[in-house]
Amino acid sequence: MPQPNKTAAVILAAGFGRRMNSTLQKQYMLLLGYPVLYYSLKAFEESEISSIVLVTGENEIDYCQKKIVDTYGFSKVTHIVPGGAERYHSVFCGLKAIGEADYVLIHDGARPLVTGEIITRCLKGAMEHEAAIAAMPVKDTIKIADDEGFSKYTPPRDKLWQVQTPQAFSFPLIVHAYEQLIAEEEQGIEHHVTDDAMVAELMCGRSVKLVEGSYENSKITTPEDLWIAERLLSGT
Ligand code: C5P
Repeated sequence: MPQPNKTAAVILAAGFGRRMNSTLQKQYMLLLGYPVLYYSLKAFEESEISSIVLVTGENEIDYCQKKIVDTYGFSKVTHIVPGGAERYHSVFCGLKAIGEADYVLIHDGARPLVTGEIITRCLKGAMEHEAAIAAMPVKDTIKIADDEGFSKYTPPRDKLWQVQTPQAFSFPLIVHAYEQLIAEEEQGIEHHVTDDAMVAELMCGRSVKLVEGSYENSKITTPEDLWIAERLLSGT
């Protein structure tokens, strides 16, 4: 695989994760003795990525620097910056801190089971297609519901993918897409974006390649996700 000049990662660890029903944010909860965020940082530290920007809450910058980055010696973390109100604001804060890069991988710090293989596949996908995201075919049938909670229709399952992170892009492309999104928001135009690929699709009309993630690479959202991640990591 040709080596890009510079590939950065934005790892997201801001936000509150209210569905965990806990005052401690999910990205800092302990998973087999390490904070959830540790696992993503470790996977990226050990990958071909050249630098990492960590996005966290304003009040957690010091904790992340001392208790995570310094304690575990994550030498690729060049910046720890405060995020924003919504995930996409945090991504924009992270992108601005990078400065220059050829490619960037955006990753949820709440996905501790990301692997080096998934990171490589996403990066390779971005180098070939400018935009590539980790995804897996859905296993369940998905229904589109109406406002009254009745099933309206059933999209064909073989066309449905569940989307994960990392999401990898040509750096200039995704910066342009996010600048456009934020400019439109300032003009009062609302887009309910839920992932980075959607920003590239909506703002730049990009086709985004789906590359293989893994069913294990799920996001810690509710308490049972933490329990499952513990079992997967310990192999029990
Ligand atoms: O809340 P959700 O599970 O969608 O968050 C996905 C990822 O985005 C998490 O890693 C979380 O830390 C991050 N996030 C963020 N800034 C926000 C909201 C979420 O960095 N304002």
